Amino acid sequence: MESFVYNALPTRVVFGSGVLAKLPAEAERLGLERALVLTTPQQVEQAEGIAEMLGARSAGVYSGAAMHTPVSVTEDALLVIADRRVDGLVAVGGGSTTGLAKAIALRTDLPQIVAPTTYAGSEMTPILGETKDGVKTTQTSLKVLPEVVIYDVDLTLTLPAKLSGVSGMNAIAHAVEALYARDRNPIIDLMAVEAISALARALPRIAERPQDRDARADALYGAWLSGVCLGAVGMALHHKLCHTLGGSFDLPHAETHAIVLPHAVAYNALATPAAMAKLAAALGVSNPAEGLYELGGRIGAPRALKDLGMPEAGVEEAARLALANPYWNPRPLEPSTIRDLIAAAWAGRPPVAAKP
Ligand code: NAD
Repeated sequence: MESFVYNALPTRVVFGSGVLAKLPAEAERLGLERALVLTTPQQVEQAEGIAEMLGARSAGVYSGAAMHTPVSVTEDALLVIADRRVDGLVAVGGGSTTGLAKAIALRTDLPQIVAPTTYAGSEMTPILGETKDGVKTTQTSLKVLPEVVIYDVDLTLTLPAKLSGVSGMNAIAHAVEALYARDRNPIIDLMAVEAISALARALPRIAERPQDRDARADALYGAWLSGVCLGAVGMALHHKLCHTLGGSFDLPHAETHAIVLPHAVAYNALATPAAMAKLAAALGVSNPAEGLYELGGRIGAPRALKDLGMPEAGVEEAARLALANPYWNPRPLEPSTIRDLIAAAWAGRPPVAAKP
């Protein structure tokens, strides 16, 4: 076995159906007396229920969280925090809400309890992406890592079927790129394979029956492990492309991941035979890129970036931006092939396998 470094991150995880009931005890354990509940405008009702559960330990709800963590929202929330003498954060929502909690923690060191309601996985990473004046910057700091994560399966039952599918593909993407990461290691490989199998098993069942609690539990378990993968090792072409596409054309995060993933896997396949063998086994298919494309179809994920509103002229621009700042990828970045990859994802064509 080759030598490796494994970096474990110190988050406490509470997992199960109905485990949100443990929130007051978790808040007490952290010594919180005035916790602010964070969420998006769409999930206010859920957040208000949680504030009620916290009782005297609640400092109310702040519901301004938004996609890509705008610094203006963080600054607004900081005013509320100072005004209400908040001593801790409870985030209930997807990656956008978790992003707000992390951005506040970076500036205040307030402890965070996160209750994820999507499969994005941000709660398991020390990574924070923020947007200011239209520019998204990413940084890594242990200050943003949540102290406690409560994975209550029941919170995901309301996630609409379509959003569940693409959010699950977003999670699979973290695990896939972990399998061929430059700093990969056998522990993260185990988690990545387990995550992909659990999600690939669960997502078609959720598409058929969004209320299937067992499938929801499998998906959330997979999303947790995928988040660990994302937080532990470096990502490559797929995440870079999605970051560029999302930022430049204001495309929705999870849908963009779901469309691009089969193409990025096809691009890297020949350069990563060991990772592809593990991925194929986890998905139960012989060709991972085709398997991911088919999985996307089965769960009703969009196929084409054009259907998300990206203009055709954006293909050249995205290719230029994706190559502008070189980064590590298992296969060297070839400009014309990257351009073809983006064009195929824009049009919604199946992934094209690289030529040996
Ligand atoms: P999101 O948090 O933006 O949620 C999408 C919409 O779904 C929101 O309106 C939300 O309120 C709603 N929603 C969420 N859960 C719901 C539920 N159970 N029931 C009903 N409605 C629900 O989407 P996301 O894909 O989870 O997060 C995307 C954001 O997270 C992006 O900004 C991305 O950059 C970030 N992210 C960061 C990391 C990291 O490690 N820093 C990792 C993954 C994603």
